[in-house]
Amino acid sequence: AALTPARTRVAPSPTGDPHVGTAYMALFDLAWARKTGGRFVLRIEDTDQARYVEGSEQQIFDTLTWLGLTYDEGPDVGGPYAPYRQSERLDTYRPYVEQLVADGHAYYCWCSTERLAEMRELQQKAKLPTGYDRLCHGKTREERAALPGFTDRPVVRMLIPEDVETRFEDVIRGWVNAPTPDDQVILKADGFPTYHLAVVVDDHLMGITTVVRGEEWISSTPKHVLLHRWLGWEVPQFAHMPLLRNPDKSKISKRKNPAARLTWFREEGYLPEALLNFLQLVGYPPVADGQEVSSFDEFVERFEWTKVNTVGPIFDMDKLNWLNGH
Ligand code: GLU
Repeated sequence: AALTPARTRVAPSPTGDPHVGTAYMALFDLAWARKTGGRFVLRIEDTDQARYVEGSEQQIFDTLTWLGLTYDEGPDVGGPYAPYRQSERLDTYRPYVEQLVADGHAYYCWCSTERLAEMRELQQKAKLPTGYDRLCHGKTREERAALPGFTDRPVVRMLIPEDVETRFEDVIRGWVNAPTPDDQVILKADGFPTYHLAVVVDDHLMGITTVVRGEEWISSTPKHVLLHRWLGWEVPQFAHMPLLRNPDKSKISKRKNPAARLTWFREEGYLPEALLNFLQLVGYPPVADGQEVSSFDEFVERFEWTKVNTVGPIFDMDKLNWLNGH
């Protein structure tokens, strides 16, 4: 049977030199989009203004292009759902926050950061689960203002139901059990949405069918599923990729390993085909035992989510160097 055209996206935050993990996600995004005759989207997730690094976006565009991980839509190439930069979409998110509040799925919280820190400390001391204690829930601004620890710059939080579904289906992993979420902030005091709201709204509005991202987001997925449901939207498919690791199993951090920086490979004169082939080999079984060189087209041809490596893909520079010299 013909596959339904997928819309996939890679959604890096411009917080510095792009991480090799971004290329790793993009490879699978692109493979699935090409396999199904769909589209691959680049979206810049820059709702955290404090972490914004000048020049980082350009590095994302340049390195993905250099690798041949060509996106069909993006901030620099446009597309039918533009803008693809979240800071340019702030007006888009607002009405959904208001709708969630009106429907009783979200509420204003006026607790000061000092009060929240105190609350957390007390919870930890008492060995209680940490999480927002809902002091503000069900209160008007005036009622809340009469109590200590009030700030006039409220946030908006999700009201996580008692019987929240924490299991979800992942196209790579099957059924996944995530921890029970806390009353997640969706709108910050500065009026910016948090990642959680923006990602759901944008994935929906941009017609994303398959959300490919790192496994560190598994704990967020039940919240995203709730938001999709509350807003009356179809929940996309999820594909949580395992993090790339060094041979000693540690995370590939920019601090510990220069290879974490995508621009590094380019500066060092690596061939983009070699890096792409390597990422493929790290995350997916080879064409045949011992056949370590395979083209992107070949990869697309034989791509299936259920074959993706879930057991800690190892980023072994020796192997990359071998491929690069091959
Ligand atoms: N902006 C997130 C990141 O930088 C993307 C997570 C996602 O793909 O949902 O990792």
